[in-house]
Amino acid sequence: MHVAVFAFPFGCHALSLINLVQKLAMAAQETQFSFFNTEKSNNSIFLSSRTNLPDNIKAYNVADGVLPNHVFSGDPMERVELFIKETPENFKMALDMAVAETGQKISCLITDVFLSFAGSIAENVSIPWIPVWIPVPHSLSTHIYTDLIRQHYASFLSHGCSNSGRDGNDVELEDKTLEIPGLSELHIADLPVEVLPRDAQETLFSCMLGQISNMVPQVDTLVMNFYEELYPEPLLNDFKSKFLNLLNVGFFSLSMPPSIEDATGCLSWLDSQKAKMVAYISFGTVVNIPHGEIEELAEALEVSRIPFLWSLRDNIRDCLPNGFLERTIMHGKVVPWAPQTQVLAHSSIGVFMTHCGANSVYESIANGVPMICRPFFADNKLNARLIVDIWRIGVRIDGGVFTKTGVTKSLDLILKNEQGRIIWSRIQVLKEIVSKASAPGGHATQDFKTLVEKITSE
Ligand code: UDP
Repeated sequence: MHVAVFAFPFGCHALSLINLVQKLAMAAQETQFSFFNTEKSNNSIFLSSRTNLPDNIKAYNVADGVLPNHVFSGDPMERVELFIKETPENFKMALDMAVAETGQKISCLITDVFLSFAGSIAENVSIPWIPVWIPVPHSLSTHIYTDLIRQHYASFLSHGCSNSGRDGNDVELEDKTLEIPGLSELHIADLPVEVLPRDAQETLFSCMLGQISNMVPQVDTLVMNFYEELYPEPLLNDFKSKFLNLLNVGFFSLSMPPSIEDATGCLSWLDSQKAKMVAYISFGTVVNIPHGEIEELAEALEVSRIPFLWSLRDNIRDCLPNGFLERTIMHGKVVPWAPQTQVLAHSSIGVFMTHCGANSVYESIANGVPMICRPFFADNKLNARLIVDIWRIGVRIDGGVFTKTGVTKSLDLILKNEQGRIIWSRIQVLKEIVSKASAPGGHATQDFKTLVEKITSE
């Protein structure tokens, strides 16, 4: 069998998908997996994560749409738009190359749901298409029901309410909840901009997301980076009514064996810290934090003297206040990259200050670490709503942005107050659910086995 896998090369989509593929490749050793992704993304995921890929996975580069002399404008979405312009031809070309090179036809196509054009590629050659949804399921639902959400939003606005709440500041809009199965506790202000009616022209990216609702009738088997036990019941029922096989195989990033390397010395530094006292801080791989907020956060860390481990990309390090690193050397460590899953599993970690990217949230849950949320973009706000108001396993940063007093208050609340202890107990319950579901005989384990059977059966 020869399984082709198409990755969406932005944010942590490709990293999550390769985690799943690696687990599949280990479970189905006679099956060949060809992994298609842009060169830039392939380089970063294969460099940063793993050197020991199973022999039955081979990565192929697809064109990213960036011409050799292209000058970037600084708009973070530019690369995404250029890449989408190049699809699906770039994937088709690379696929033909892999088939010619291996001499093996493709028997199954696994893709990120974002690349829903893959459904017709699979249909044309009569092979199964298995899309994979990487963020939280609630967010898939917002794409399936985009038309309905836009209608709600428009009727809400036509009743004379203001439109200024897209950034979450308008109280009325903030309070407007969604009448969609399983999403009734989410607010309009939590939604990614692509789901809301647009003032400006649709972008290629918003069109791509707009296609997701059309894929529903085409899909028999949908793989989720999630656990059946964590769904609100109406959402689970709604998905089960739409997809014949809804496979909740568990958090992909947890299936990986821990890396043995600790290149930035994080784990040995954590070994020297007291239990549950360290704040781990990371905002994922994409977010650009406003410089002023970095300064406020740094000042709070300096005065609070709470031990901290901060994963801060090198391009942002210059925004730290002068002398900060020297002054905090006794209680803090700043690194360009941390082995996050192992860091969160370390007994010294007491809280995770996060932008609420789905993988970060999942890794925090699986390790029972309460969160302080500073959501920025995409699904961040929706995830923060789940963390703070629905699962109640974290707090939102006071005032929505980092200020010296807000950071100190949130850290004290989680690390030193009774409320923090209650939040900690709640997240232990979720950790236990996840751990049981991933154990032999657990729901996620069963669903993973079903997935292996599907890709290996003739
Ligand atoms: N990550 C890591 N070390 C770091 C920063 C991030 O291992 O220093 C990993 C983290 O474990 C997670 C991913 O990068 O799996 C970030 O994904 P997430 O969905 O949280 O955020 P995104 O980068 O997509 O916004």
